[in-house]
Amino acid sequence: MMEAKEKERYLRQMNVAELGEKGQQKLKDTTFLVIGAGGLGSPAALLLAAAGAGKIILADFDTVEVNNLSRQFLHTDARVGMNKAESGAIALKEINPYLTVEPYTESINDETLEPLAARADIVVECCDNSKTRHAINRVCHKLRKPLVTSGAIRGAGQVSVFDFRESDTPCYDCAFPEDEEKDLKASTLGVLTSLTGIMGALEASEAIKLATGMGKPLKNQVMLVDVLNNDFQIFNLKPNPECPVCHGGK
Ligand SMILES: [Zn+2]
Repeated sequence: MMEAKEKERYLRQMNVAELGEKGQQKLKDTTFLVIGAGGLGSPAALLLAAAGAGKIILADFDTVEVNNLSRQFLHTDARVGMNKAESGAIALKEINPYLTVEPYTESINDETLEPLAARADIVVECCDNSKTRHAINRVCHKLRKPLVTSGAIRGAGQVSVFDFRESDTPCYDCAFPEDEEKDLKASTLGVLTSLTGIMGALEASEAIKLATGMGKPLKNQVMLVDVLNNDFQIFNLKPNPECPVCHGGK
């Protein structure tokens, strides 16, 4: 249960009727696994921490570089050279001392991810490459963990929710097959700081909705966001009967 001082911290949010004290307590009872402490992971993890997540496992094996700082605001100039998960954990604890943070500094693949995801209630994918994103999709599907996933490049991004606790759910591979997907990288094509802020915030919002049961999460949908033209569109996703991840195809 939350103590009085802790409740005071979340007063504005608890005043939202759809959330209330009950929803706030659910957030405190939830462990979020945030994979990637970069452009998307910075806003997503900071918002989850500030909003009252009980525990965040923050995974990133990379180190903070000067060219990260313009958008990866979990990190500071003084922490250049530090592991990103460890640097991020400092920022998250600073914003909310009631939060439990566990930094994970190894690289993410199917083998390392499985025991990590098994300890989480909700997985928030904030990585920067297609290979890791597909590994996260496979493990979340296998373990039936709800997955919030996003990507951002130049001025456009996408966000989706796959709630694998439910049956007949498509997966990320149904929508974006691994063997067809081009690995577009922000490191070569660039990305706008304000866009990663928006996409990471949308991921936090979806994860909070999944944790508390409020609102309507973007389940089995993809929202495409184009900040240069102010274009937000939502498309429905369907399971692919040939999908090698969720339908045993190919
Ligand atoms: Zn699938």
